Amino acid sequence: MIEKAKETILNYKGAPLRIMEVCGTHTHEIFRLGIRSLLPPQVNLISGPGCPVCVTAVDYIDKAIYLAKKGCCICTFGDLIRVPGSDTSLAGARAEGGEIKTVYAPSDAVKYAQENPDKQVVFLAVGFETTVPAVCLAVEEARRKNIENFSILAAHKTMPAAYQALKGSADVFIYPGHVNAITGNAVCQRLREEGVSGVVAGFTPQELLMAFSVILTLYPKGEPFFKNCYTSVVKEEGNIPAQKLINKVMEPCDSLWRGLGIIKNSGLKLREEYALYDAEKKYSVPDIKGTPNPACKCADILMGKCKPPQCPLFGKACTPLKPVGACMVSGEGACSAYYQYGEKI
Ligand code: SF4
Repeated sequence: MIEKAKETILNYKGAPLRIMEVCGTHTHEIFRLGIRSLLPPQVNLISGPGCPVCVTAVDYIDKAIYLAKKGCCICTFGDLIRVPGSDTSLAGARAEGGEIKTVYAPSDAVKYAQENPDKQVVFLAVGFETTVPAVCLAVEEARRKNIENFSILAAHKTMPAAYQALKGSADVFIYPGHVNAITGNAVCQRLREEGVSGVVAGFTPQELLMAFSVILTLYPKGEPFFKNCYTSVVKEEGNIPAQKLINKVMEPCDSLWRGLGIIKNSGLKLREEYALYDAEKKYSVPDIKGTPNPACKCADILMGKCKPPQCPLFGKACTPLKPVGACMVSGEGACSAYYQYGEKI
């Protein structure tokens, strides 16, 4: 099957097409596995906005730094610490005495809050549908145990509205398998009805080769298509208990995306009943407007408008050791993938 998929890819003689890997992990895996080298020259791969750290706006980083400077202990996944805000990063805030703690799960932050009742612990809740259930569980746990010194700074993103904003930026989407595992495929089916083609892909060499082979078989037929190429994990209806949990704890809200701007109903915030765990309300966080570095092209990269090596700072002023923008910091960022694997354009 793998050999057949490879053959289909290598023998593609159809029209040029642009394929967007919506998910940053796909970008890295496709590079790492050498799949780019199999693709014919008329197949153009574009990186999309599916990296949680990359799409988190500068405003959010500034708010997290504001809370750290107010004396809150900030708990976060590691990547976010080095993302530049307007003036500094969370790493900079830490160097100035702020307590910034790396955690591996939201529940670690709840535990830390329970063990340190004198501290105000804020978890930085970013990411897509994939990470939301664990955050909801953490909030529920804090509520059940009456842990009142725990809260979250929420900037969760949801994909359906983002796909609408991305329409036209690629001919075919490779949808993020882990997101579809939670949401199911209804949104992709609707997009197909609206003329948008895509496949859901897994992350192993076999799964990715199958996905490309399906794309290069179906695209020349000229009809919009959708195919689930990750059936071992993604069910049509998604993960119903996770959907119910999200719906219980959170509700849709407009959300600011780096690059894509404010997209209506593309985020999640805590419902009013959980306001005690909403750091923005709890600490009356002001409406901070961040200022991204004007030379950084992360916004265009996340929209598929340019590729990392087209940024004048790429590999010079901006490297993984000294990142200027979020896309170079994150392990799922497009700039870090291009830097690590060395493709020019
Ligand atoms: S190379 Fe650096 S400065 Fe340029 S777009 Fe990427 S992250 Fe931003």
